[in-house]
Amino acid sequence: MTASKGYGTPNAQSPLAPVSFSRREPGPTEIAMETLYCGVCHSDLHMVRNEWGNAIYPMVPGHEIVGRVTVAGSAVKKFKAGQIAAIGVIVDSCRHCAPCTHGEEQYCEEGVTLTYASPDRVDGSLTMGGYSNNYVVDERFAHTVPGNLDLAGVAPLLCAGITTYSPLRHWNVGPGKKVGVVGLGGLGHMALKFAHSFGAHVVQFTTSPKKKDDAMRLGANEVVLSTDAKAMKTHARSFDFILDAVSAPHSLDPYTEMLKLDATMALVGLPEKFPVVNIGNLVSRRAALTGSSIGGMPETQEMLDYCGQHNITADVEVIPMQKINEAFERLLRQDVKYRFAIDMSTLK
Ligand code: NAP
Ligand code: ZN
Ligand code: ZN
Repeated sequence: MTASKGYGTPNAQSPLAPVSFSRREPGPTEIAMETLYCGVCHSDLHMVRNEWGNAIYPMVPGHEIVGRVTVAGSAVKKFKAGQIAAIGVIVDSCRHCAPCTHGEEQYCEEGVTLTYASPDRVDGSLTMGGYSNNYVVDERFAHTVPGNLDLAGVAPLLCAGITTYSPLRHWNVGPGKKVGVVGLGGLGHMALKFAHSFGAHVVQFTTSPKKKDDAMRLGANEVVLSTDAKAMKTHARSFDFILDAVSAPHSLDPYTEMLKLDATMALVGLPEKFPVVNIGNLVSRRAALTGSSIGGMPETQEMLDYCGQHNITADVEVIPMQKINEAFERLLRQDVKYRFAIDMSTLK
């Protein structure tokens, strides 16, 4: 066992504070890594405060991890000690069900092992996340990182990046498509970057007037304040695809009204309370309201390689580990441009 340290909490009420715990040694197909950066996802906040009702404590959150390999097991093929590696939201799955064999581990029929707050399939212990100094994972669930990218900006790609890349690819977002992104947060700003990069006409919806200029800089063709009912009406029945990346309860109806015949609205945001939807909007357009969960291991690697080729990273504000509770509060105030990344060297 390796003595490890991080920031964690024993329950839903306490702020995050320094904790010590042990990690098992890596097996033959596993790597151990020293963490360098970890992104701060709104899911970390939902989980820490048990807003989805499935939290297990003690909890060390963090699932947007970039680090340096310290040990590569004897059968590891992808990594050598000293190499940069990245880990996202999933660290194991059954590996034999239909989704797993098709590289869509996020939809594993037996349930995934999450990077934190999940029973480890190897030894039954509780997984501890990336707000810590190290991680141990099977190489199947770790990714190589293009050498040209800034590592702090890479960390958020492991959740915010793949969670938006995957649905945009699945629903064929590209040239000739009018695409909406709802919410300009960590996920939203990656959705905007990807949809723009894929060649779509992108409309960013935001509740924050001060984010308008940034949205244009990040690749939006148009920005709409969702509180402006008149501006919203001008987009009625015009979208091919809308991706909703909002962290708080809100009505979906103004967006389903904007879908064209046979268009799709996909939800990736997972607020604490789910909205009631106007089914009439869907029936009157043969529209689909659907959802999407992160992405599988092959697609996560594809996304990272795409980011390397197109020089795409998250816009990050790098913070020391000690500022995490403040960062959570700022996340709730929609005050982040556009992802916090923790510099893990500050944990030492
Ligand atoms: P975030 O950085 O906090 O961004 C959320 C954005 O939602 C905010 O920036 C804000 O955008 C908008 N928003 C916040 N409160 C709002 C309200 N009351 N009404 C309307 N809009 C509001 O969060 P994130 O890390 O991107 O995560 C977004 C959501 O996705 C979370 O629920 C998270 O748990 C979920 N998630 C899901 C998956 C998945 O696999 N499906 C993966 C990762 C995360 P504006 O200021 O532009 O309005
Ligand atoms: Zn996440
Ligand atoms: Zn499976």
